[in-house]
Parts: sequence; structure tokens; C-alpha cells
Amino acid sequence: MKLTHLYATELSDTVTQIQPDIPGDLQLQLVNHPHAHELALPDVWWQDNALAQQLADEEFALCRQSVAQKYGGHQFGHWNPMLGDGRGLLLGEVENRASQRIDLHLKGAGQTPYSRQGDGRAVLRSTLREYIGSEALFHLGIPTSRSLCLFDSQEMVLRETPETAAMMIRTAPSHIRFGHFEYYYYSGDSAALKRLFEHTFIHHFPDALSHNNPHQALLKAIVLRTARMIALWQAYGFVHGVMNTDNMSVHGITFDFGPYAFMDNFVSNAVFNHTDHQGRYSFDRQPGVALWNLNALAQAFSQYCDTEAIKQTLMLFEPTFISAYQQTMVNRLGFSNVDNRSLDLVNRFLTMLANQQRDYHQLFRKLSMMDPSQAQCPLRDDFIDRTEFDMWWQDYRAHRQDEGNTDAQAALMDSVNPVVVARTHHLQRAIDAAGRGDYSVANSFIEALNTPFDDKWAGTEWAGAPVDDAQVSLSCSS
Ligand code: AMP
Ligand code: MG
Repeated sequence: MKLTHLYATELSDTVTQIQPDIPGDLQLQLVNHPHAHELALPDVWWQDNALAQQLADEEFALCRQSVAQKYGGHQFGHWNPMLGDGRGLLLGEVENRASQRIDLHLKGAGQTPYSRQGDGRAVLRSTLREYIGSEALFHLGIPTSRSLCLFDSQEMVLRETPETAAMMIRTAPSHIRFGHFEYYYYSGDSAALKRLFEHTFIHHFPDALSHNNPHQALLKAIVLRTARMIALWQAYGFVHGVMNTDNMSVHGITFDFGPYAFMDNFVSNAVFNHTDHQGRYSFDRQPGVALWNLNALAQAFSQYCDTEAIKQTLMLFEPTFISAYQQTMVNRLGFSNVDNRSLDLVNRFLTMLANQQRDYHQLFRKLSMMDPSQAQCPLRDDFIDRTEFDMWWQDYRAHRQDEGNTDAQAALMDSVNPVVVARTHHLQRAIDAAGRGDYSVANSFIEALNTPFDDKWAGTEWAGAPVDDAQVSLSCSS
């Protein structure tokens, strides 16, 4: 293992060194072995609960320079300078087999100077939701942090009810958030801001350095990556739930999973976070919020780029988002080209799903099995307004046939329309079993989510939509 502590050393005055606070009964329960292999981590960590025990040893390589990072963030639109890693520690960076440096971050590791009133812990429920959710996104092709391993314990922590504490190690190219830059900008510490930029350029965006304005090139890279990530969230019905700027990664990866959800029925203004009373982070507002967040981030670039350059750069968000979203959506219907006909079919399909409250995932998948040479399509029975579907089907099958090879279109659809999605009710089953010490349900769900487009999952328990479609509500920061 090649371990470094570049963030902790190069930005030492922006972090606090802290040992993880490890419950005595910490037990390793889930390991992402393929990911551990990519990171060239020692196999012994996964044997006989070794890693859980080593984390309690302050001489262990991962604990020697573990740090809490300082950052701020716009939370629900309000600037909060008081944030930072309140329950997570950056353990260091490891070099993966492709020679990229990847952060190892331990979540739920105890109190830090940024814990405020919090206990520094994460509960099993939310930890398992993050563990499974990030792998689910990854295998759908959506940029995200990854999950390496999960531990549980019998230590009780109080949330709305008492729950048991858990920890996970997650990985990401870095844990640098929009809120890192915002914090050093708003606190007026231009020396720290400069060092943060330098670290970010050198280790994460070296290409920007060859641009005549590296800061503008960095902002542009963040805008483009964020736009593409959000396009995929919208295309796959993913709701993040807490898009505060402290939960936004400069890498444009999905980050800090809280009350996230994949929609079941298509509800365009769906909100799953029960503290989000205004619906600020509803499904349909995510693109607008992402741009709002990029505007907040761009403030921190104002000493380095003129206003017009910043405006021009932010204006790249919308066309990038729209083209990535449209391309994915027309592919989901089997078309390669974004044109008026394919877009009209996408829009009408989504309108039917929304108006008739149909399942967002299953109907895309089922469509590839329908024969465009047939005038009537059995999928009509999945809709309440069959006539509306029949009219759509006539135009849809005509366009499929006009476009040529309908078998190739069906193959394209199967490669982008998942059979298995990390739906909330499946996550809950995995959580309930894990709470009883049984991780077989979580492992079986993860196995399915690792190949979500594989037809072998059709008809299995993991392909199912919930029986009752009551909208769930989930809590933040648990
Ligand atoms: P989140 O909503 O999880 O993104 O967290 C927002 C802020 O609250 C971050 O600074 C977290 O580190 C902190 N935080 C959340 N939960 C806890 C906790 N249980 N103990 C300490 N800090 C926490
Ligand atoms: Mg957070």
C-alpha cells in the first residue's frame, strides 16, 4: 500500500489531527473486495476483524495522521461557517493500481472540533444506505464517491430513537467540497485560499495549470463535471436530498449521501428529506440548485477571475446539463440521435409516467421487450389512460422503425435501463436484517446492484417496485 498524507501536510493549518474514537466491539461486516484490490490494500485487513482492531491503535498507518478538515457551506441557502468534518476523518491518500491518489475517509469516527452538538457518530441505517447507494450509482455509471468497507457496533446513539453506531470507509479522488473554497474566501484568509487552490491544481486538476487562467479552467472543469453528474441524477430518478454546498464535491461526484432516494413512481417534485419543508431540494429543482451552488462556489474565484469570465463559465452549465440529459434520455428510449422527434417521445413518455403516477424504472426496462412492428403494445395495460399510451406507441414505433435496426435499439436500451435500482424499500430490508446481525440481505442486494443492467435479475426480489406507493420520508445527518 502506498499511503500519503498530502492534504494533511500541505494544508496543515486547515485541519485538526485527531485519532479515531473506535468502539471496543467494532466489527467489520462488509468489504468491497474488488475496490480494495484496485486500491492495492493489504488482504490481512479483511481477515479476523483485523482492520477494526488496527484502527484503535494510534501507531497504525491509517491513524498516524488522521485529520478532520475545516470547511463551511451554504445550508438551505444560508451561509454557515461553522462546518467541518464533525464525524469523519481523512485517513490519508492511497495510490491505486492506475497510479491515482484516492482518499480514504472514515465516517462515524467520533467527535472533532467541528462536531458542534453532535456525537461524532453515524448510525447503522444511514451508513448502510450510503454504503449501498454509492455503489449503486457507480455501477449505473453515475460519478460518485465509493464504499470500501462497513463496520458495526452495539454502541447506542440517540437519534429520533436510540440506534446503533456504525462506521464506513469511503473513497474519493479527494474530499474537497465547494464549502472548502467558500470558507477560506468568506473568512478572508487569502493565504489559505491560495494554498487550497495550489493543492487542488497540482493534485487534482493539473491540466488547468496549462491554461492562461488556471482558476477559470478549474471553475470550468467543476461546472462541466457537475452538470454531467446532475444530468445523470435526473435521467435515473435520483434525489440527493441535501444539496448544501458542503455536500458538493469539486470533482462533480455524488457525495455525502443523506436522505437520498431513487424515485419509485415518477413524481417530478418529489422530496424525501423530511426536514426540507420548502422542497428546496426536490427532484425537479436539482439542476437549478446545482447552478446556485456553482454560483456560490464561483464567489471564491472572484479574486482570480473577472466577473465576465465567471459569468461566461457558469453559463456553460445549462447547455452541458441539457445535452447530457437529452442524450441519456433518448438512449433510454432506444434512439441514438437527439432530435425533435426523439425528444418529443421522451417528453410525452415522462408526462404519461408523471400524470399516471407510474414506476419510473420498470417501464423503461420493459419497453425494450416490446416489438415495434406490432400495432398494439401489451405495455398499454401498465397505464391507466391506455388511449394516451396507444397514441404515443404509434409515434414511438414509427420512429424506431424509421431509425433502422430495432434489435440494436433494444440492446442499447438494455444497456442503459437498469433492472435493479437502490430503491428505498429494498434498502430498508437490508437495514432491518443488518440490525439483527444478518448482512446476507445487504450482500445479496449489493451483488444485484453491481450488475444492474443484467437481465438475470428480472423477476427477482431486487427488481420489484414497492407494493404500496406511499412516499417515504428520510432524515438528514443520521
Ligand atoms: P451532513 O448533513 O451529514 O452533511 O452534516 C452537516 C454537518 O454536520 C457536517 O459538518 C457534519 O460533520 C456534521 N455532523 C452531522 N452529523 C453529526 C454528528 N452525529 N456528530 C457530529 N457532527 C455531525
Ligand atoms: Mg455533509
